[in-house]
Amino acid sequence: MSVLIFAEVADGAIRKSSQEALYYGAKVAEMMGTTATALAIGSANTDALAAAGRFGVTKVLHAADGALNEANSMAYASVIAAAAAHEGAKVIVTAKSTLSDGVMARLSGKMKAALGANVTDLPDLSNGFRVMSSIFTGKAFAVTELKADVKIIAIKKNAIVPVETAALATVEAFAPALNDADFSVKITGQTKASGAISLPEADLVVSAGRGFKGPENWGIVEDLANALGAATACSKPVSDLDWRPHHEHVGQTGVKVSPNLYIACGISGAIQHLAGVNSSKVIVVINKDPEAPFFKAADYGIVGDVFEILPKLTAAVKAL
Ligand SMILES: Cc1cc2nc3c(=O)[nH]c(=O)nc-3n(C[C@H](O)[C@H](O)[C@H](O)COP(=O)(O)OP(=O)(O)OC[C@H]3O[C@@H](n4cnc5c(N)ncnc54)[C@H](O)[C@@H]3O)c2cc1C
Repeated sequence: MSVLIFAEVADGAIRKSSQEALYYGAKVAEMMGTTATALAIGSANTDALAAAGRFGVTKVLHAADGALNEANSMAYASVIAAAAAHEGAKVIVTAKSTLSDGVMARLSGKMKAALGANVTDLPDLSNGFRVMSSIFTGKAFAVTELKADVKIIAIKKNAIVPVETAALATVEAFAPALNDADFSVKITGQTKASGAISLPEADLVVSAGRGFKGPENWGIVEDLANALGAATACSKPVSDLDWRPHHEHVGQTGVKVSPNLYIACGISGAIQHLAGVNSSKVIVVINKDPEAPFFKAADYGIVGDVFEILPKLTAAVKAL
């Protein structure tokens, strides 16, 4: 028996968000006195997969079938179920993501598993198998006992801080039998979101709101983001007004981000916006209105005009 971790792959390597899941899964395996195996699906570089060993897994199963290069949640659920059977895994771990939300819902149905989603901490094994989840868009926590034989844990970003070693994992080819039903939904095309840094994965985010008055003023937002190596984001009205693309919209109805640093510029801090950003490690708010609600959620606040503050901040970052 082992713990199985679904490791998402992008550009031939395991995604940064899945590295946390690898470490988390390895820690759960340690608590249960077993080992951790990762599962990577789609084309990937073998050396990059072996590097999963740095996060504590001993083995990586690689399902490299070309038909799996497009993230198809039905087929992925079948591959994970087959890998769990192969490893005798009763605990399956993943990073919570747009892909894993669909995959794990299907997998829990397929395996009659108990699913703990948005999990914020290692499980408590002292009395059953209990996990703590973030609920109500981050405003409360729920403790849930996972009672089914198979348990799935989808961890929230920043649930654990990985500690890396120099260890490497062995990589084994894995080719489960799949059938037409696994591919009954077909992805016919994909358009990659623009922006050099992927917003859901970003460690640093510079986000801007309606305080910028119009799309022509976004140059100073991009200058600060470029100086920091940050992704750019925006509030919902900004994308509704077509000032910025929709994939930059963060909040309850947009992308959920948990970067180490979130800089909110000219954003009021409505509850629906906070719902998507409130698990950021450090929040900096720049707003000319000292009563803006965002200041209540801020670690650092600057009361001032974004058109004056941002160029100064960018110059200071560049000087550093
Ligand atoms: C069902 C529902 C879902 C929603 N989902 C989302 C969501 O996912 N994400 C989201 O963002 N919103 C969402 N909203 C909208 C949300 O309620 C707010 O209306 C929105 O977040 C406000 O955007 P904003 O802060 O950019 O604009 P505003 O509320 O107009 O705030 C602009 C801010 O900029 C400041 N400002 C103006 N000029 C300057 C300047 N020169 N320098 C510094 N500061 C300045 C102002 O003081 C103000 O605080 C949702 C609403 C509903 C009803």
